[in-house]
Amino acid sequence: MLEEKNQEKTSLESLGEFGLIDHLTKDFPINHESTIKGIGDDAAVLDFKDKKTIVSTDLLVEGVHFDLSYMPLKHLGYKAVMVNLSDIYAMNAKATQITVSIAVSNRFPLEALEELYEGIALAAKAHKVDLVGGDTTSSRTGMLISITAIGEAKSEEIVYRSGAKPNDLLVVSGDLGGAYMGFQVLEREKEVFKVNPNSQPDLEPYSYIVERQLKPEARQDIVALLKSLDVHPTSMIDISDGLSSEILHLCKNSNVGCNLYEDKIPLDPTVISSCEEFKLDSTLVALSGGEDYELLFTIDQKEFPKIKGNPNLTVVGHTTDMNEGAFLISRNNSKIPLTAQGWNSFAKA
Ligand code: ADP
Ligand code: MG
Repeated sequence: MLEEKNQEKTSLESLGEFGLIDHLTKDFPINHESTIKGIGDDAAVLDFKDKKTIVSTDLLVEGVHFDLSYMPLKHLGYKAVMVNLSDIYAMNAKATQITVSIAVSNRFPLEALEELYEGIALAAKAHKVDLVGGDTTSSRTGMLISITAIGEAKSEEIVYRSGAKPNDLLVVSGDLGGAYMGFQVLEREKEVFKVNPNSQPDLEPYSYIVERQLKPEARQDIVALLKSLDVHPTSMIDISDGLSSEILHLCKNSNVGCNLYEDKIPLDPTVISSCEEFKLDSTLVALSGGEDYELLFTIDQKEFPKIKGNPNLTVVGHTTDMNEGAFLISRNNSKIPLTAQGWNSFAKA
């Protein structure tokens, strides 16, 4: 049985490096005028005319950032692109190109890389980005993926972490804590599977949070929404490391303090119910869980009527003078200092 399966797999050696690159990248179309030269030369050539160029890069390492025992390669490809696009959107920019670099051991057959690139292609199509280059090399152990995302924006459109003023409103997109709770569910099922390989996990009740972990969606739509509402954030950051650490980054870069209201933090009902099941505090999960890839931004109070009632956006607090500090205002109205790693310090409070 097993041997038969192995025979259907194509070893990477049989293709050679260039054959492999050609094979993986042949079906990627070029859509942007700014892509003058994509794959096939020593470097890509891009032309953004009078726009500014936005660049961001991330490195994902097997066993550190992803676990292939429950992460399908197609999802991994998709997620690796999303993680990067999220940073471009957090600058209020449009994503236009990506490069993809991979290091793989010969434990991976061609079919595995095809699956990875299927996810990359899906993400590139959904977010209209051109694949313009990358690098392919071997690894002794696990898989590494590094993606660079490139984008464009008019100078006056770019939103930095540093522009918030005291008394701006703090706003988040979507809801928080889902990716972390999805991770908890997947880790639990992995342990169950180790003990009983015949067990069939029923992930249906957790589909929302499992999807938040395995198939996150970078918020291109929020950048478009803000434009259509004529809202210009004063500062913005993507929430990849948890709400508390990102708020603190934003406050530090903008020289402001903040009050974040616990009862305003947007949580999906599945996050609340799974937190009860796992005996975790949903506020802590939202503050420190991470990997939600939502956007956190500040707006002038005058802009509030433009976002009021929008189901994609939640006002979670406001900025203050820097010397007032950064606080969580709890449900029972106590003022708790925000720390980047909420777990221990909050447990004590
Ligand atoms: P170099 O010798 O300069 O590293 P390569 O032979 O590795 O060039 O790459 C040839 C072309 O294929 C280049 O345009 C490069 O950007 C692209 N490329 C290489 N690996 C990948 C990959 N994994 N995904 C996408 N493009 C790639
Ligand atoms: Mg190369």
